[in-house]
Amino acid sequence: EGVLHVVATPIGNLQDISLRALDILRQTDAVVCEDTRVTGKLLAAHGLQCPLVSYHEHNAERRRPELLARLDAGETLALVSDAGTPLISDPGYKLVRAAQDAGIPVRSVPGASAAVAALAVAGLPTDRFFFQGFLPHKTKARRDTLAELAAVPASLVVYESPQRLGASLADMAAVLGAREAAVVRELTKRFEETRRATLPELAAHYGETTAKGEIVVVVAPPVPAEPPGEAELDARLRAALAGQS
Ligand code: SAM
Repeated sequence: EGVLHVVATPIGNLQDISLRALDILRQTDAVVCEDTRVTGKLLAAHGLQCPLVSYHEHNAERRRPELLARLDAGETLALVSDAGTPLISDPGYKLVRAAQDAGIPVRSVPGASAAVAALAVAGLPTDRFFFQGFLPHKTKARRDTLAELAAVPASLVVYESPQRLGASLADMAAVLGAREAAVVRELTKRFEETRRATLPELAAHYGETTAKGEIVVVVAPPVPAEPPGEAELDARLRAALAGQS
């Protein structure tokens, strides 16, 4: 019977892949990937050779029926993305759903994801978090999205490109205020760096220097409004009673 394995791959350091993921990539009939060069490199680094099928934004509609037919015929396929966990700001959602709807088992082979890796080193609350992924590129749309998120009582996790980081942090400071945040760069790579400060401070810093590499921004939750104290409640009660007479 066919099986679709959803396999996480490293987000930088090529050793960050599970032993089980390597076993599955060794045995699978084909690896479904975004960029065959990127995945080819990963496989070569682990001494693996495996037929690759590209599956990305521009050919997914065309490829999906072929892939489903292969699964239906009893082949096993491994879905990977260029980095981290497939479907997390990456292709695969429609393929997973279609396989399930066709009665084909979809199995998880978990591993790295930049969102969770960044949260774990940001030094900000992790008990509740909201994954935003990429924000819109244009300022107006970006500010609108941030305004929607302003009241979410959780840390926010945002993927960002180095070119847009400065402008994006400036919009976050404008819409979300002086919350604490962390810019996490180049996770698991040579120049890994975490910088934690307030949003206006980070906006000033990255407004001047152009950041390099891959980036996750984690923003602390909004500070909850203080519940009114005893004196405030008394004052409100007196005002309300005074208004009645
Ligand atoms: N599927 C991936 C995952 O599970 O993390 C995310 C894919 S998304 C197209 C790529 C974005 O993830 C990058 O632009 C960056 O924001 C973030 N990212 C990926 N690798 C990273 C790393 N090593 N350090 C920091 N951010 C990373």
